[in-house]
Amino acid sequence: MFDNLQERFGDVLKGLRGQSRLTEDNIKDTLREVRMALLEADVALPVVRGFVDRVREKAVGVEVTKSLTPGQVLIKVVNDELTALMGESNEGLDLNAQPPAVILMAGLQGSGKTTSTGKLARFLRERHKKNVMVVSCDIYRPAAIDQLRTVAGEVQADFFPSTPDQRPLDIARNAIDAARKQFKDVLIVDTAGRLAIDEAMMQEIRDLHAAVAPVETLFVVDAMTGQDAAKTAKAFHDAVPLTGVILTKADGDARGGAALSIRELTGKPIKFLGVGEKTSALEPFHPDRIASRILGMGDVVSLVEEMQEKVDRDQAEKLAKKIKKGKGFDLSDFRDQLQQMNKLGGMAGLMDKLPGMGELPDHVKGQVNDKEVTKLIAIVDSMTPMERQHPQIIKGSRRKRIASGSGTQVQDVNKLLKQFTQMQKMMKKMKGGGMAKMMRQMQGRMPPGFGGMGGGPGGLPPGGGFPM
Ligand code: GDP
Ligand code: MG
Repeated sequence: MFDNLQERFGDVLKGLRGQSRLTEDNIKDTLREVRMALLEADVALPVVRGFVDRVREKAVGVEVTKSLTPGQVLIKVVNDELTALMGESNEGLDLNAQPPAVILMAGLQGSGKTTSTGKLARFLRERHKKNVMVVSCDIYRPAAIDQLRTVAGEVQADFFPSTPDQRPLDIARNAIDAARKQFKDVLIVDTAGRLAIDEAMMQEIRDLHAAVAPVETLFVVDAMTGQDAAKTAKAFHDAVPLTGVILTKADGDARGGAALSIRELTGKPIKFLGVGEKTSALEPFHPDRIASRILGMGDVVSLVEEMQEKVDRDQAEKLAKKIKKGKGFDLSDFRDQLQQMNKLGGMAGLMDKLPGMGELPDHVKGQVNDKEVTKLIAIVDSMTPMERQHPQIIKGSRRKRIASGSGTQVQDVNKLLKQFTQMQKMMKKMKGGGMAKMMRQMQGRMPPGFGGMGGGPGGLPPGGGFPM
């Protein structure tokens, strides 16, 4: 799967070179290529649009550190957004129910429902030690019931017999009774499909759904139908509340448009991929692994993560050393800290995650918004190097000049200087090695990879000094 996309992305991202910062302008052409690649992969148009917009938003302003190329940095952004598009992490089946937990299989004819019923029975028996029964409610296709009987035998699942002269609802009810009496953990109900969506089929699946009260309603769909897969999924979801999707025939699909469109268009996760005709050819769907498969650049993504984390950590360590040596904490250091915070995904997110910060009253937290941080950085930028090093010389006329240079008010400059003085005091207190300890502590509390682009756990503002 995804062969075509992989090839296209490879070419696309080689194009960006020699930029020190990603800007709207220098990524424009590349984004156009990304858009084309996705459309060629048969991803639905609204999905493509949203995706490209989000990549642009996330990428603009990101700095390209020395050891990386702009293309590599952009790949990381694309990778993260691809993962998010497909739902972040694997969602398994939720079989928490009074046994038997019923799984209802829905989908068009030929999508792979019967095959997937067998695969799933095998998966649940082998991986989750479940005692599984299967039943077919497909009374329309002559050999459908026998097909399931054969598959069931192969995967050692109990087969509840049914015949074409019975009503699907009766079959399902009898099967639940039997499964309950025989203490089965799971009952998988295979259903009939049509060649296209029609009202009779929808009514039948609605009735079945109401009668069997499934814990999981899985929509089975052929990956090769591309973005149509997402559209059919949506139509089914409007009739019965789906809990997930099994995307079949992924082994034969070179484009991948279905995998990339389904989550966004239906809000439902792909839970499994069918990757062949054999009963073992079923894989839990992991958005992050699929994303790096699409890009074919898993190593680049980890390189970028590592570099960005390292650069931030280098900076933090430099500061730590400086303070330890007894050198003063000056306004340039203050500015570095503010910038790191911005990189870590902004104040609001950061504050909630840091020890102790969560307990701050909301009105205090509200004061520290990300715009504020950007403003503070602008103020420091308008100072001379001399002023940054020796903030005590910043008196009346200098304050006025700095305010107008940064497009702020004198009060803003005053406030910043006050915050800085408070932080400087705090830094002095921590001189004796308390800081290293505090940094270690904070690292331990940060979830790995938190903060996206700029944020490894090493990238924390040293000493947790906040401009407040
Ligand atoms: P149903 O009508 O929805 O029950 O579909 P079936 O389970 O009968 O499958 C239809 C055809 O698709 C069969 O020939 C299966 O072998 C094939 N099939 C199902 N899933 C996959 C898959 O993941 N990969 C491949 N290559 N073929 C599959
Ligand atoms: Mg079938």
